[in-house]
Amino acid sequence: MLCSPEELLQKNQALSNTWQHYQTMPSIESFVELAVSINSFTEFLIDKGITALHHASHQLEQVALTLFNSDIQHPLPPATINDLNERLLALGRMANTHASASATLAERRLDPLIPCAPEMRTGQIWLIGHDQAPWISLLAQLGYFGMSTDFSTWDEPLPAHAGSASVLLLDMSSLPEAEWTHRIQALRQQFEMGQLIGLGVRSDFDQLQQAMRGGCDSCLLDGTPAHAIVEHILELNERQEQETYRVLIVEDSKTAGQMIRRTLEENQIASEIVNDPRQTLNALKQFNPDLILMDMYMPNCTGVEVARIIRQHSEFLSIPIVYLSGETNVALQVDAMRMGGDHFLTKPFNPVFLNTIVKSKIERYRALRRSMYHDSLTGLLNHSSGKNTLDMLLSSVAHDGGFLSVVMIDIDHFKLVNDSYGHPVGDQVIRSLSWLLKQRLRKHDIICRYGGEEFMIALPHTDAEHAYAIMDRIRQEFAQIRHPHGNTHFVATTSGGIATYPLYQSGDELIKAADDALYQAKHEGRNRIHSSDD
Ligand code: GH3
Ligand code: MG
Ligand code: MG
Ligand code: MG
Repeated sequence: MLCSPEELLQKNQALSNTWQHYQTMPSIESFVELAVSINSFTEFLIDKGITALHHASHQLEQVALTLFNSDIQHPLPPATINDLNERLLALGRMANTHASASATLAERRLDPLIPCAPEMRTGQIWLIGHDQAPWISLLAQLGYFGMSTDFSTWDEPLPAHAGSASVLLLDMSSLPEAEWTHRIQALRQQFEMGQLIGLGVRSDFDQLQQAMRGGCDSCLLDGTPAHAIVEHILELNERQEQETYRVLIVEDSKTAGQMIRRTLEENQIASEIVNDPRQTLNALKQFNPDLILMDMYMPNCTGVEVARIIRQHSEFLSIPIVYLSGETNVALQVDAMRMGGDHFLTKPFNPVFLNTIVKSKIERYRALRRSMYHDSLTGLLNHSSGKNTLDMLLSSVAHDGGFLSVVMIDIDHFKLVNDSYGHPVGDQVIRSLSWLLKQRLRKHDIICRYGGEEFMIALPHTDAEHAYAIMDRIRQEFAQIRHPHGNTHFVATTSGGIATYPLYQSGDELIKAADDALYQAKHEGRNRIHSSDD
């Protein structure tokens, strides 16, 4: 949820530069630059989950887009200029506030090299309502995953330190509907950078509309179980870990290629240009793009031919191809799409439109790929991609020298959990273990759902002793989680086994040795970690 304050300020500076530039040289060209810059800033805010700034930026974008028209004379009328200026200044102020707040938060974060950071990556979570009694179970569950929570009533003013809160949970059922909009708006102003989540909202058009208009980022309907709310909050946290989008531009004209590249760069989309279409396959393998922007007419071959050649390779069957061409003949466009294309944009292209299409296609493509490599219950790597990632990690550790520990974890007496409470409750226990692992381990550790209730973890640059300390702490934390069932709860424990590179060399050997150690831990009585060195 946090982005680097420097990055935000830089982005904001770039935006004000284009505005200055427009004011000194008002023309349709400099206005297009401004619109692209606003669009890029808005997208950046969405990516980073900086919602309150995003609201303001999005409104500014809407205003700019209505002026994005060749009939409009430049310079714009003074009233319009004033309006734009006010909006840009307000946005700049919010960016400054946000940057200084996230700078202090960043200072408070722990050394990223220390695994098992006791603090969650989000800041404080506030619950605002009439009474916290109905939410006790939710607050407890958030606590298990390392999130610290506070409660306040609607009438109490929040203390000054609440200003850095990253999530506000609003119990809407405790507030008369007539007050919703202005109460939410007031909080929105106070928590410019926080996520506002409405709880207990009815699945009712008017209620949802009021909550959204007030400035809620999302609403969880009345009756949403506590674990689903926890999951929603944990997911907010994962959003920022997106890899940069990559686009391959196949375009014979160097000028056109550079222009497209610049537009994409404005939106933090990395790109590479291929001027000779015969180089496309090589570039695909080396650059591994998420999307191809394909020129229609090139010497010796057409974009449609290149697309067909690409589609002969099974690994590139689903990569999105967007044609970019001056071709306005609809019949030809339809043909181009039939031959393996996904979309058709005509030149001269609207840069805002280009970015939006590219991003939404990439998001879908990535979601598709995620479902291939990740487990649907937990979102963790699945068995085969976990093993492949381990092999890749091992070769890089072998290259740099150092340790790597592999840990196999298995939930104890899990059959009993299923038999006593039912399969769906069992699934929820598996999910909680996966959340805890995601919470506690570092970004570059591998966490994989190896089998039903068995997980494989790889900790690079971690020897057996450290791996034991990390995993034993997680084991203890997991054993403290109270899994709700009806009006009561139950607890579950785990056993684990550790094996370490270079004592064991290959991925298979490491997994086998860790599995043997796990067996040993089970044999010794469960709820413990056994290291293969012992
Ligand atoms: P032990 O302490 O020896 O590990 O005992 P256990 O009962 O956990 O034994 P085992 O690991 O062999 O049993 C795993 C059980 O997990 C069997 C299977 O029905 C159940 N299981 C596997 N995958 C899932 C799943 O996705 N969801 C649920 N709810 N249960 C699963
Ligand atoms: Mg061309
Ligand atoms: Mg088990
Ligand atoms: Mg098992």
